[in-house]
Amino acid sequence: MPYKWPADTDFALWELDVIDRVCPACGRMMYICDHRYRRLHTLDGPVQLVCKLNHCPDRLCAGHARTKSPELEVTIAPPSWAIGWDVFCWIGHRRCSRHMSIPHIQSELQDDYAIKLSDDAIAKYIRRYQVMLAARQQDPEALRRQYESVSEIILSIDGLQPEKGHETLYVVRELTQKRVWFAEALISATAHEVQRLIAKAKDWATSLNKTVSLWISDKQDAFVTGIAAEFPDVPHRYCDNHFLRDLAKPVLEADSHAKVQMRRKVRGLRKIEQALLKQQNADVSTSLTDDPEATVTVLVGPANGPSLEADSANSVVLEYCAAVRGILNDDQGGPLHPPGLRMAEALKEVHESIQRNLDTKKGDSRKSTLAVWAGALTRDWNTSEPSKSPSESTSRTFTRWPQPLSLEGGDARIAKRSSKG
Ligand SMILES: [Zn+2]
Repeated sequence: MPYKWPADTDFALWELDVIDRVCPACGRMMYICDHRYRRLHTLDGPVQLVCKLNHCPDRLCAGHARTKSPELEVTIAPPSWAIGWDVFCWIGHRRCSRHMSIPHIQSELQDDYAIKLSDDAIAKYIRRYQVMLAARQQDPEALRRQYESVSEIILSIDGLQPEKGHETLYVVRELTQKRVWFAEALISATAHEVQRLIAKAKDWATSLNKTVSLWISDKQDAFVTGIAAEFPDVPHRYCDNHFLRDLAKPVLEADSHAKVQMRRKVRGLRKIEQALLKQQNADVSTSLTDDPEATVTVLVGPANGPSLEADSANSVVLEYCAAVRGILNDDQGGPLHPPGLRMAEALKEVHESIQRNLDTKKGDSRKSTLAVWAGALTRDWNTSEPSKSPSESTSRTFTRWPQPLSLEGGDARIAKRSSKG
């Protein structure tokens, strides 16, 4: 892979010598016969390697025709690579552990290390990384070393379908060392095929001479029968994650249904906002043209500065609209923090806040913008409560909702101003 270096690249110069200079054929001291120049990327910057090549000075010796490279060279980078091991491991780790896409890896390399690699070069390095990783994972000696100090092992099996309609990838993992033992894609996951995988896990455990103390799975039929057949005396437990997920399913369904119901009741935000904005524009043109005909009826207020009061009230209503929209769009949270429950709770807060505003306005016969629009906002909401009553003890996690206090404070100021007028 020829790599094009920019002309102004600043290379660090690393000179490498052969350390063991004894000719392997005749035992004479070898001489430097040539130099190999290499340029490569490291995480510390571009490097120029100067590798001093040695050979035996005796023309008749077999060691004369073969040159020896410095021992250190392959520990810096494999032959003819444009990157060192450190960059290679960095790429492989980002891909395999962090699941970063190739364009993402490419831009991070460029931004953080000023290393410019093409996407196909990165893809090629990733393939090599995967091959090395697989070889290491399958190395029986490395496996034996890892399990030397372990007395009992816990195995799990699960099938996952990376893409719908494709074959299922079955993975057998060992949980005490958090290690994937092996994975196989099965086109037809018959009970017989699955049992073959479980028998393979048994072979691994036997070769390691370890006792399997527990099996964990989602307990699909093929796993239950296969494990019972191959490991008759080993307990087989439900995986926590699957257990919780199965348990949570009806909860999430009910929660999602409640959300739909609430969204159906609280609607028309856009209409309210559009009307308010239209009215504000009308106000501006009114003050410019001073045309009494253009005054909007709901804006009847004290003679000194009706626009000011209306504007403040309008902005309060717009803030309410924004808050309610935020509440309706908040979909975060799993079965342990159902979003529907939070939505019901937040809507109730809005409802109460608006009610407090309306109560403050009581006795004031003048129609205010807030009262009109707040009525519109809560129109349907007042008629029924959410199907799930919000629990007071549930912790509040909703943050986009503006503090009711500040809204009421703003409204109180408006009220004060009106009474002066
Ligand atoms: Zn020799």
